[in-house]
Amino acid sequence: MDVPEPVELLQRLIRVDTTNPPGNEAELVGYLDGILRDAGVSTTLVESAPGRVNLIARVPGRGAASPLLMQGHLDVVPVSDHGWTHPPFSGEIADGFVWGRGALDMKSGVVMMLVALLRTLSEGTQPPGDVVLALLADEEAGGDRGAKYLVENRPELFDGVKYAIGEFGGFTMEIAGRRFYPIQVAEKQICRIRATLRAPGGHGSLARPGGVTARLAEVLRRLDRRRLPVHVTPVVRTMIEAIAAELPAPAGRVARLLLRPALTGRMLAAAGEIGLTLAPMFSHTATPNIVSASGGAVNVRPTEAQIDLDGRLLPGFRPADLLAELTALLGDDVELDVFRYDPVEMEPNLELFDTLASVLREHDPSGTPVPLLMPASTDGRFFAQLGIQTYGFTPMTLPTSMAFSSLVHGVDERIPVEAVEFGTSCVTSLLTRFR
Ligand SMILES: [Zn+2]
Repeated sequence: MDVPEPVELLQRLIRVDTTNPPGNEAELVGYLDGILRDAGVSTTLVESAPGRVNLIARVPGRGAASPLLMQGHLDVVPVSDHGWTHPPFSGEIADGFVWGRGALDMKSGVVMMLVALLRTLSEGTQPPGDVVLALLADEEAGGDRGAKYLVENRPELFDGVKYAIGEFGGFTMEIAGRRFYPIQVAEKQICRIRATLRAPGGHGSLARPGGVTARLAEVLRRLDRRRLPVHVTPVVRTMIEAIAAELPAPAGRVARLLLRPALTGRMLAAAGEIGLTLAPMFSHTATPNIVSASGGAVNVRPTEAQIDLDGRLLPGFRPADLLAELTALLGDDVELDVFRYDPVEMEPNLELFDTLASVLREHDPSGTPVPLLMPASTDGRFFAQLGIQTYGFTPMTLPTSMAFSSLVHGVDERIPVEAVEFGTSCVTSLLTRFR
């Protein structure tokens, strides 16, 4: 069997434009389906809408473990900015990196999973349990044509699965000179809220102070200046304690102060860039991303303004909790309506964490794996509805200077060439030993 080289395969995947919208994952699925069929793997293609295809393959294990799902999405976010050093769909290799949209999020992860599976088969090793590979459409636009569709319409494809690997995790994070590998074990819940403000309107020539636009400005300023209350959730406690235990004594003590809600805000503010990364793990957030107010003409004072807030709830909380905090912050004249809520009701299950951590330690003894609460959402939330625990496990050792979070969905998205092989060999190890 011809197992593709991970880096070459990644280049090919980047060159197939799966920008979502519209996604058009069908062409890429066709290509990957060919590779799997050539390797003797039978696949199921599920078309959720024209051009929107998901691929699922189940490789039988030897029955010593429950099936493991490897789920990765094939779509990527649009390239809105110019200024790429190398064209975003070129998949070029330069300066030790593979460049292009999807290099991190998450065509590299798809490559790791697919090549790991093919390597395992070509070595004639039967994995401990079935391995289910799901290559998914539509993650970046909400998953309605991808994971959500499959969970609602084809749940039998995931029969018996308890654990999954997916995005995000296993990439390096440097804290106080130490290297950590956060592994996502939980994620925040999407809770989108429309805030409506009202005030009397009137003729634009009557320049009265106040009015709805002034109130809008106050609300936006308050959202920018104030952080919502701190909640220390069990996953974040475990994460911070694991990090603190690895840091030299003074830094470790300082890190533990993050777990005291009265001090958390100040500690985060003092921690610079890493504080900004950690902050959303300690509170709900609501970011005003669409703002509108119009009287319909420039000489009409508007009577209404709207703000669409990208709300993210910590695990274990409900929309009412966030609404109450926002009302306390903004005042009760602001009407708040939830227009999308994607609950994640499953308690994080850490049973597979130690196995994943041991794989990472073997491949990089200098790094410490720690559990991570993901401030954003992944397809993991849909699989959780089937009782499946997803772990973020697309291992990558990244240069200290590389800011993962600014490159994902950003300009010059790229991955070190060695990281692609590193992740592939970690996932291959996992396939011989998951329990
Ligand atoms: Zn992604």
